[in-house]
Amino acid sequence: MILTEVQCECGAVYRCAESETLDGEPGRLQCTNCGRIVEQWASAHKRVYRCVIAPDRGYPEVSPPPAP
Ligand SMILES: [Zn+2]
Repeated sequence: MILTEVQCECGAVYRCAESETLDGEPGRLQCTNCGRIVEQWASAHKRVYRCVIAPDRGYPEVSPPPAP
């Protein structure tokens, strides 16, 4: 399982869990807040997205924590 985070231009942050083994379909992530296409992928792996920060509930700009 690969965990990544993607941020929309509007400030919404989505956490993506991509399986390395389960089959999925190419697709795209559309922001539920502003409707932009946040990310598109062509790999046929299962992906699940969850909105972790909605812009109206988000914190002001903070520097991201260091990568593990
Ligand atoms: Zn957005």
